This record gives sequence, C-alpha cells and structure tokens, in this order.
Amino acid sequence: MTEDTITGMSAIDIGAAIKDGRLTSFEAAKAFLDAIEAKDREYHSYITVCREEALEQAREADRAIASGELKGVLAGVPVAIKDNICTRGIKTTCASKMLSDFVPPYDATVVRRIKEAGMVILGKTNMDEFAMGSTTETSYFGPTINPWGHSRVPGGSSGGSAASVAGRLAPLSIGSDTGGSIRQPASFCGVTGLKPTYGSVSRYGLVAFASSLDQIGPIGRDVMDVAAMFNVISGIDERDQSSVNSRKIDMEQLAGYSVKGRKIGIPEQYFGEGIDSGVKECVMNAVSVFVSEGATVERFPMPIMDYAIPTYYIIACAEACSNLSRYDGIKYGFRPDGIDDLTELYIRSRSEGFGLEVKRRIMLGNFVLSSGYYDAYYNKALQAKNLIKKAFDEAFAKYDVVIGPVAPTPALKAGQSLSDPLKMYLGDICTVLINICGVPAVSVPCGFTEGLPVGMQIIGKHFDEQTILGFASDYQRATADRAYEKQTPDVG
Ligand code: GLN
Repeated sequence: MTEDTITGMSAIDIGAAIKDGRLTSFEAAKAFLDAIEAKDREYHSYITVCREEALEQAREADRAIASGELKGVLAGVPVAIKDNICTRGIKTTCASKMLSDFVPPYDATVVRRIKEAGMVILGKTNMDEFAMGSTTETSYFGPTINPWGHSRVPGGSSGGSAASVAGRLAPLSIGSDTGGSIRQPASFCGVTGLKPTYGSVSRYGLVAFASSLDQIGPIGRDVMDVAAMFNVISGIDERDQSSVNSRKIDMEQLAGYSVKGRKIGIPEQYFGEGIDSGVKECVMNAVSVFVSEGATVERFPMPIMDYAIPTYYIIACAEACSNLSRYDGIKYGFRPDGIDDLTELYIRSRSEGFGLEVKRRIMLGNFVLSSGYYDAYYNKALQAKNLIKKAFDEAFAKYDVVIGPVAPTPALKAGQSLSDPLKMYLGDICTVLINICGVPAVSVPCGFTEGLPVGMQIIGKHFDEQTILGFASDYQRATADRAYEKQTPDVG
C-alpha cells in the first residue's frame, strides 16, 4: 500500500488490514511518521514526534498480533495524544514554557490503556497553553494551522489533535475538553470529536485545568473510529476517584443504528442571535436528515443559557488558579537561574513561566475566590450550575437527544481572537453547558459555510454515549454520498 492509501484510511480499516495481513503496524506507523515529516512543518499539529518509540511499539504490536495476544479492532493502529496527557519518558509540555522540559515518570491511565490495546503513539499534539483557549494560538511553541484554510485557526484547545486527523497526520487522536476543547476544534477541522460523560474516562495523568469539568475523549475521521477509541480508553480506574464503570459502545448496534421514532429537542437559544446564518443552515439541514430518517423534532426554550459563559468562566478559573498553584518553580517546572530570595523565586518562576492567557485566568480565579467576592461570584456560579443541570434534566425527560451547533461560527481567521479575550470567551456559548452538566456530546461534521466545515453537536443523557453516537452514525451513513465523504481537506 502507498503512503497516501494508508493515511487516507479510517482507523478501523487500518486495524482490519493489519489483522488480515494486508498491512503491518510498522508500515502504518511509518506512513504517518513520513507524512508528519513532510507536512507538519506547515500545520504544526505536533509538539513532539516520537519516531523511534513509535516504530519500536509498532514492531512489538506486529509480533503480538501475529502471536494472537492482541485482538482488538485498533491493535497496531497509530494515534496522536494531546500534550497535556502524561506519557512516560516523553515530554509533556502542556504547550507552556512552565513545563517545556517536563518528562513524566509515569503514563496517564488513558496512555496505559492505549499501549495495552497495542496502539502506537505517534507523538504529542499542540494545544492552547494549559488547555486555556479556543484557537491553539496561545501555545508557547507557536500556533497550529487549520488544514482547511491556512489563514484559519484549527480551534482549541485540542487544535493539534483535530488538525492532525484532518491533515491525515494521524488516523485518530486524543484530546481533552473542559468547556468545548474537543468538540470545537473537531467542528473547525471537519472531523468527529466526542466529549464523554464526566467520569467515564479516567483523568489520572491529565494535567488538571478545571477538575470538575475536564474530560479526555477521542477525535477521529468518523463516528465508528471515535466509538472504537472510546471503548479503549473508558472505564473505572482506582487512581481517579471520580471515574466510573461506564458502558462500552456496542459497535454492531452502532453500525446499524436508526433514529426512527427518536425525539430530538432543539433549544431556541442555540439558533438565536450571534449564531452565524451559514452555521444555522448547516445544522438545520442536518436535523432535517434525522426527520427524513424518522425522528421527531421539537423546539424548546432554554433561557438559562444566558448564564452559561459567566458560570463556566467563574468555575473554570476558580479551579484553574488552585490547580496551577503547584507550579512554583520548586518541585518541578520552569525556574529562572540566579535567584536566592524565595519570594522572588515564586514571582519570577510564575511570571516568566506562564503566558498571558494563563495569567489572566489565575487572576480571575483568585478574584472570584477572594473573601468578599466569594459569595457574589463563586457561590452564585454554583447556584447557576444547579439551574443549568435542572434545565438539562427537564429536557432529557422529554427528548432522547438535544441538538445544536458546536460553535457560533466556522473557523476564525488566525490572529484575530487574542486581542479581545471576552469575545473569544463568548465563542464557547454552545459547548460549556455540557461540561457544567457532565453529560456527553459529540461534534459531527454537517456541511460547509464559506468553504469551511461546520459541526453539529448531539448531546445526550449521562452515560448514553450509545445514543448520541448512534445519531451520528445514522447521519454519516445517510449522507455518505452527499457531504460526509467529501469532507476531507485538500492535503495533497
Ligand atoms: N475555550 C474554553 C476555554 O478557554 C474551553 C477550553 C477547554 O475545553 N479546555 O476555557
């Protein structure tokens, strides 16, 4: 098989080809590594590429598959991992100067599971510093480019993970989502991304941003790949007390899933002011595909959505400032030379080690937690969180899924967002609610506006990944000859 053939295949097809001897894991890894070498200068989707380690893992996978030790659908398949997930012996930088030399002495639980499944780690993907942002422009190592348009951002914070899949530099990737960071870049890059139910994937070894919202999940070319990857990484873990034994996806049921007779709820606010008309049109067209497949649709008001952004940013920043207090220049992380005063050591390590956006969040977090403001901001946000949860509980008493856009716009122009952080925060309006409730949601490509991909967001009940992925699977089958198959950027 040629390099182009291999990098053009879905992850499940690569796994099947390895299993029946048409391809080796080594050849698959080499094809992607060569593609990265040739094209990633352009996209900058990786921070670290693990060529030698990957080829060694692939050789080992080939041996274990041949001997029958490894049988999973993704055995031998390459994968890229966001650089805020710990990999033993391989730099995990969080795209920050603070951790630019950090080599973890252990694997995150998801990484351990990926290795046990015989998957091959190609490298660590670029991201916004400490996963704070929506464009992958705050990376200490420089921005990632969207393969769909070179003047466009790939979204963020898992922009490198989404761009690596869209640019065919990985068949699958792993991202993290605190307020939309898997779904929004998946939408901007025309790929499929799943934010699983809070607790269904272990956070052990994920560098913490906002612990009550963070969740690791897969990004892939289609929903079957994403489901197979979810099955590899999900499940209870004694090292993460918030993890649970979630249901695995039934792949056979997924492949034949029909939305017939299912009920869809559409919050009116998801199609209100501030949402780009091209985005609305794509999502409504996608909903009409579900109707023609036999589902019913109803609009309903969700006024609490007006509080989504302030609630999210207060909670996320409060947790972030506490989580990031560990980077003090003493235990590990960046420390400037030639300091002999303790206070100066703290000040200079943190001032020089963190970028602007991270510092802004730390300041915001300390402010909302300070005595005198705690009740007015933090406690209010927790109250709003309860109301948001209630609104979703009510919706899910009536509907099987809730559908809306992933982001108010298609991929933004590079260089435009960072100057106006508030505007950038408002771009998270469609995604942050889902993390506040802890429910699962998947971002599925559903057409184009201005020549750029648009994603629809399918949101489900806690631990009902099967249904949202089922909807996505039905949609991708129903539209295979129309939009979905054509959704590959010109990466030649
Ligand atoms: N864009 C959001 C933020 O900046 C979400 C980030 C994320 O999900 N990691 O906080």
